[in-house]
Amino acid sequence: MTSSLSCGRFAPSPTGLLHPGSLLAAFGSWLLARHHGGLWRLRIEDVDPPRTVAGAAQAQLQALAAFGLLHDGPVIWQSARGDAYQTALDRLLADGHAFVCHCSRSDLAANGGIHHRCVPRQARPDPAVRFRLPPGSIVRFEDGLRGPQQQDVHAEVGDFVLRRADGCWAYQLAVVVDDAAQGVNEVVRGADLLDSTARQILLQQALDLPTPRYWHLPLLLDAPGHKLSKSLAALPVDAGEPVPVLRRLWVLLGQPGTALDGIDDRDALLAAAQRSFNPGLLPRADILLPAGALSAP
Ligand code: GLU
Repeated sequence: MTSSLSCGRFAPSPTGLLHPGSLLAAFGSWLLARHHGGLWRLRIEDVDPPRTVAGAAQAQLQALAAFGLLHDGPVIWQSARGDAYQTALDRLLADGHAFVCHCSRSDLAANGGIHHRCVPRQARPDPAVRFRLPPGSIVRFEDGLRGPQQQDVHAEVGDFVLRRADGCWAYQLAVVVDDAAQGVNEVVRGADLLDSTARQILLQQALDLPTPRYWHLPLLLDAPGHKLSKSLAALPVDAGEPVPVLRRLWVLLGQPGTALDGIDDRDALLAAAQRSFNPGLLPRADILLPAGALSAP
């Protein structure tokens, strides 16, 4: 589906409460979509049952509502999307873009865990399905924030998994099928997913799906060079005090604090933010986040 209307999305995995990094991505993608008068979709990526935490999705939905980040249309739950993923997988298998693979992790250890050809020591009752990457599968794309990007997916990633040996759908396939189904054309997300983008573009090409524009926001750090520690990353943002938190996120997103001066009402603040958002000011460098920076004062 192609459309000139901007359509963004937020797609949290329900592995815990909404933490500062995910809220920054949510607000950044909401701002980009709403600033352009576009839609903002929501998707719960509960595609990996072993990592899904009971109650986390509901808590994330409640937190987004408390921050006033309202989405358009129904929430998509990946756990209910197996048929769509199966249809995509069948097509990739039929077109020769995917293959059944019996290799185990230890079979691939000699090649650094990268799959270039099948070397299984034994057949498995429940093999995985992988995407086939011919040598020279080099993907180039323009990140809205980081400029030209390039990855040799064959060399750096190898044939990647589409359906795991445990039967779970891989994130890469699910995200591509769902972004297309939701008409998403502007993906704003954390830089930890930059490395997945080339794989997703190859899948879009193999499935004849449009490629959205990608914007990868900087990572939050708790000290120079340190990714937000587990303890700090796991700290929930204070949804009881949305205005000060939104104000701080706004500044972390490189926007001038003065644009929101004197506004104490949440929805008035979001309306002002939507109007004055300038994507050209989004930060490119990782963001240092002092402990407690997003809790209420
Ligand atoms: N579900 C992923 C996460 O919570 C995000 C996927 C995406 O934005 O593409 O990290």
